[in-house]
Amino acid sequence: MPTVAFRTLGCKQNQFDTQALRRHLEDCGLRLESRYEEADWIILNTCAVTERALAKARGEARRMRRLNPQARIFALGCGVRYAAQTFIAEGCVISGNQALAALGLIDLGLELTTPHGFIPKNKTRALLRIQTGCTETCAYCIVPSLRGSSRSVPLKDCLQTAVDLTAQGAPEIILTGTNIALWGRDLPEQPRLQDLLSALTNQSGIARVRLSSLEPHLIEPGFLEWCLAQSGVCRHFHFAFQSGSPRILNAMKRREPAPQLIDYLRELTRQDPSVCLGADIMAGLPGETERDFLDSTEWIKSIPLSYLHVFPFSERIGTPAAAQNDLVPVRVRLERAAGLRRLNNDLKKRFIQSNHNHVGDVIILKNIKPFQGLTSNYLRITFSNNFTTEASRFAIPMTDDNISSIQIQK
Ligand code: SF4
Repeated sequence: MPTVAFRTLGCKQNQFDTQALRRHLEDCGLRLESRYEEADWIILNTCAVTERALAKARGEARRMRRLNPQARIFALGCGVRYAAQTFIAEGCVISGNQALAALGLIDLGLELTTPHGFIPKNKTRALLRIQTGCTETCAYCIVPSLRGSSRSVPLKDCLQTAVDLTAQGAPEIILTGTNIALWGRDLPEQPRLQDLLSALTNQSGIARVRLSSLEPHLIEPGFLEWCLAQSGVCRHFHFAFQSGSPRILNAMKRREPAPQLIDYLRELTRQDPSVCLGADIMAGLPGETERDFLDSTEWIKSIPLSYLHVFPFSERIGTPAAAQNDLVPVRVRLERAAGLRRLNNDLKKRFIQSNHNHVGDVIILKNIKPFQGLTSNYLRITFSNNFTTEASRFAIPMTDDNISSIQIQK
């Protein structure tokens, strides 16, 4: 049987698909190989979310070829679904090929495969995929056409996977998917994300749960308040806001977040500044004027958020946004992104300062000195050298005596 090595690019969804394929090929008797130079087969799981991501995948195919000219390189994933010819031209065998299908090497990207959860190599925290695909139609996004509509993992399977991951020693489980706020809407009785969280947090002995990115216009009234009342749900919310300008959101076919949600976030940061509120923000979306950008920046400051993930807009051929004729020059996109990153530094500094002397709910990420931990509200802390513990999760005052450094988790 041939030996096989894996190279996975892109989002957590791709990691799940690779995990499923690894397990499947092991079941077929293939031996896993960690060195690309030594493998008979190399499986390259590709991404196409931006032009740069696709270029990186093509570059990886070439690199693999240089590292191991004899290997058979199989390419699959969103990059292949988006631009198969690119990988055929690099001498890759792409998903859908009979030989592959014969060995069950099918493109899993469109299926909710098992395992639904795993602990990535050299990591402590577990990933639990609760959903894949998306039914939204954001003008700049290619994902729905590459991953299909939203499909949810049934509640009982999510729960069983969470129990298994906890038994494997994970102190925290990250709920992930393409658009997790859509979880349950395609299931009978249409349960909501809160129902899943309630089932998870009511399961005794389960690891704490962290939510990955939330689409703000899909958050139901009272959901955040409910989450903050659960000790088993992390005090950290990340929103895919993308812009603070209603004009630009509408132009990008994105619904605006409910005004009640924004009012609640403003009140929340006043009442309890230790709750971590992060956001994805894009700079230079098509049609974005200087006025729109300033409105968006003022809006971000008005909440205020704890940190930002900043992305300069990059057109995706095949999306409505890429076909627009009012694209913002790349130089301006990069300048605006740089401005948002400067703002991000100020937001992070303010949030870290507001947590000084607070009691942190910490899990250990690295249990060799100096110990490292992660708080429920997304702060990565390095403990001082005299600190030691046996516990995997504990509460600790975040003071200079205990802590040598503190930063927002990347
Ligand atoms: S909600 Fe997210 S995944 Fe869905 S279309 Fe919009 S940007 Fe893409």
